Amino acid sequence: DKASMIISAEEISRLMEALAAQVLTRHGECEDLAIIGIQRRGADLAERLKAILDERLGRRIPLGKLDINLYRDDWSDLTVQPLINCTEIPFEITKHKIILVDDVLFTGRTVRAALEAILDYGRPKRVELMCLVDRGHRELPIQPDYIGMKIETELTDHVNVLVRERDDEDKVCVTRT
Ligand code: 5GP
Ligand code: MG
Repeated sequence: DKASMIISAEEISRLMEALAAQVLTRHGECEDLAIIGIQRRGADLAERLKAILDERLGRRIPLGKLDINLYRDDWSDLTVQPLINCTEIPFEITKHKIILVDDVLFTGRTVRAALEAILDYGRPKRVELMCLVDRGHRELPIQPDYIGMKIETELTDHVNVLVRERDDEDKVCVTRT
């Protein structure tokens, strides 16, 4: 295997700041904004986005988490049982514009499933999509509204996203086998 570092810790901080700035440009005072992170590292990044926005706005943006393993439309193809982490949406979906956050966007299936899960709770005013890394190879017509970085990958590459919350460091690298 060959692992090449693509994004450093410093750059990840800069990217998160830039993503938050884009949200503020689009949403101004963000009155009816809420954030939902996809477990696990998408939820970690969602918390970082919230922290930046909360500080800028001087109030708290509602934050939820979605464990998508349950909803993955191809989960029956996986050999492992879907993991059940917590799914928390502690705000009223119908009153909010939602920013859905994930670490990596690949085929788009997870986002499709996430949308289905969100819609089970109600009809949001709008849903926008943010990902730290867009690695391409979409199978569905799903595109991010906010992208940290686009990375050209082979189908068989693996993008390793490390976050300090669980991996003790921030880093993105690509492993090619
Ligand atoms: P998709 O459903 O778009 O194919 O894949 C996106 C979901 O799977 C995201 O939740 C993402 O975290 C995970 N994922 C897909 N490909 C990769 C990858 O190369 N690296 C990492 N870290 N996660 C991936
Ligand atoms: Mg993920």
